[in-house]
Amino acid sequence: MPIITNVRTILTAPEGINLIVVKVETDQEGLYGLGCATFAYRELAVKSVVDDYLKPLLVGRDTNKIEDLWHLMHHNAYWRNDAISNNAISGVDMALWDIKGKIANLPVYELLGGKSREGVPYYRHVNGKTLSEIVDKIEVYKKQNVKHIRIQWGLYGGIAKDLNTPKNSEPGIYSNPTQYILDTLRMFEYVRKECGDEIELIHDIHERLSPKDAIYLAKQLEKYRLFYLEDPFSPEQADYIANIKSQCTTPIAIGELFNNPKEWEYLIKNRLIDFIRVHISQIGGFTPAKKLAIFAEQFGVQTAWHGPGDVSPVGHAANVHLSLNSHNLGILEWCGFSDLMYKVFPGMPYEENGYLYVSNKPGFGIDIDEELAKKYPHQTNVTKWTQTRLPDGTLVTP
Ligand code: MG
Repeated sequence: MPIITNVRTILTAPEGINLIVVKVETDQEGLYGLGCATFAYRELAVKSVVDDYLKPLLVGRDTNKIEDLWHLMHHNAYWRNDAISNNAISGVDMALWDIKGKIANLPVYELLGGKSREGVPYYRHVNGKTLSEIVDKIEVYKKQNVKHIRIQWGLYGGIAKDLNTPKNSEPGIYSNPTQYILDTLRMFEYVRKECGDEIELIHDIHERLSPKDAIYLAKQLEKYRLFYLEDPFSPEQADYIANIKSQCTTPIAIGELFNNPKEWEYLIKNRLIDFIRVHISQIGGFTPAKKLAIFAEQFGVQTAWHGPGDVSPVGHAANVHLSLNSHNLGILEWCGFSDLMYKVFPGMPYEENGYLYVSNKPGFGIDIDEELAKKYPHQTNVTKWTQTRLPDGTLVTP
């Protein structure tokens, strides 16, 4: 049995976003695993949990006992289910799955029961300053056979115009909810007219609206037949989803901010959401994610794992392996990566003709060029994009 000899973090930012990868090394020649622990905006805190607390806990233990080690890490600090601990645990957990696949000489999806499909359908993001820019970008993806597109007029909360803020207002990213709602409805009308009814459209409210405004928007969007509407509410207000479900058929996806099983259990077992889209490292890794996928399947809820640029390529590989296996896959978010990322992370998933594929090497099939990664050091900065405000200056969820 392979024994853990070292656990360490690798911080890198090839595309300017802090990525945290955990490497678990063993006593067997050349046998190691990689996992994603990316909490891009608190990277040093995650690094400390891995290097200062998990490493001493884990060195000398059997890599095969993933289930036991996950619970050991989860309960070790007594307090649990927080974002920093969960990401740290995820880094180790995914690395152990990677090692198990390498021992078995099988890709991880085979350890789960094999493929439900040969490639994973994904969606891409389109945003633009003008409606014609949005349509032009959609047409580019349509030519690549991408069938699902998330559309935003501007970034989250729209492009605020004619703001009248109080004097001495705090700096931040301001949005005007009424203008955002009306602009979003105009965008959907325009895109449906220009791009047709077949393309599958997604929109992310990104918890920017009050519950009453989000319910109004969800209802008005019903006629545009969305694939799903994402994060209409913050996790704190997620019980409002019952109000949307009682009033319209717009499908709902939520979960990228969830940390704790109690946040999804009620929504899934009461069939209040259509897609669960947690950030896999944020809930503690591959082990809890595979359990969540199976739990959701029992209630007819589909998966749409969070897949933006602040998930490392190792995390994306985990997303694709799980999505290849899960019978209840809905869609996967994919943001596309530069050639540089494919050099830093050889073997990372790739897109082709509307589907995502993995390298099919054992484990997650992905590696890291540590020397190249070092050339792109992480940056510890004050996070600005989360400082979002209403026209009167009130801070709101980002
Ligand atoms: Mg989102």
